[in-house]
Amino acid sequence: MDKSAFSRRRVLSLGAIGMASFAGCLGSSDNGGKETSNDESSTDEGTSDNETDTNPEQSESEGLPDNGAVVFVYDDGPMKDYTQAFPAHQAFDAPATTGIITGRIGLQNYNGYDWMDVEQLEELEAAGWEIASHTTEHSVVGTYELVEDADASDDRVYPEEIRHGYWTSKDLEITDGKTTVTRTIVGYGEDDVGKYIEFDGSLGESFTRGETVTRYGEEAMHEALGESKRKLESLGFEIDSFLAPYDNFDDYSRKFVRQYYNAVANAEHGSRINDPDEFDPFYTHRDYFIEFSSPDRVKADLDEIADRGALGVFGAHTYKEEVTEERIYETLEWVDERGIEVLTLREACQITS
Ligand SMILES: [Zn+2]
Repeated sequence: MDKSAFSRRRVLSLGAIGMASFAGCLGSSDNGGKETSNDESSTDEGTSDNETDTNPEQSESEGLPDNGAVVFVYDDGPMKDYTQAFPAHQAFDAPATTGIITGRIGLQNYNGYDWMDVEQLEELEAAGWEIASHTTEHSVVGTYELVEDADASDDRVYPEEIRHGYWTSKDLEITDGKTTVTRTIVGYGEDDVGKYIEFDGSLGESFTRGETVTRYGEEAMHEALGESKRKLESLGFEIDSFLAPYDNFDDYSRKFVRQYYNAVANAEHGSRINDPDEFDPFYTHRDYFIEFSSPDRVKADLDEIADRGALGVFGAHTYKEEVTEERIYETLEWVDERGIEVLTLREACQITS
């Protein structure tokens, strides 16, 4: 534990920096990005303060520690982040990143759970945690492909997931890249064909499955991404990172997210390990470390992270039954035993830039 505390302080002093390196962080992600034309990330409102705060001593990037680093990213901001994850992390003087849905801050008994209030978030941030945005209302920021063809006369579409449909009265775009139709969502459900989203009128155009996606339009995207950041900043938090709801993130999301954030915690769901030499914060690999996983798999990944000096990004929902303080504590012990540093996503971004 002492060793962790020591290394943690070392990273913090390093990170005291560190806004200077954010410019580099953004630069590297622009270079590494596989898509074109997004210069907004270097000019948008979200980064202006950071980039002017330069410190000549910190212009060289340190890179990841020899034994690698792990970023813990908790989802949704339930009170259990504070009552279960926070004490475990405090025992190791180890920070984490928590993705907050701004519309749920301080709610009680919503969806069966209590949600952290501003006071808990302030306490987390004061202890070195990073507050990240998880949108205003946990809305989808990616796209879902149609799994059935749609006729011009249809007022329903059948995408692989119907989550966009949960927000009735929002407008949904149906697009194959050439033709885009916008219709207002009136509901969702399941019929003989499958799960569908229903609109206030027929499509007026036909679309082919596999070539067509559903997505929210620009206005809804800017609201989900920009409003949540503004809200958290107005509460006094420093916001640099984004966590995508439902692990749904793709090139469409990336285009908008780059305009507000420096990093995405779960751009590539399904692996916990990021290559130390090619870490791009807009292509971060994350996977869960308690739910949907086994202790042996996690330990094997930690071995690899320590061997390669790689960056692990580990996620969890603390309101899940199996995600207990003990399991989090135990994982932090495995991390500690291997001499792996625990960082926030912001810190990982800073030292790898
Ligand atoms: Zn979530």
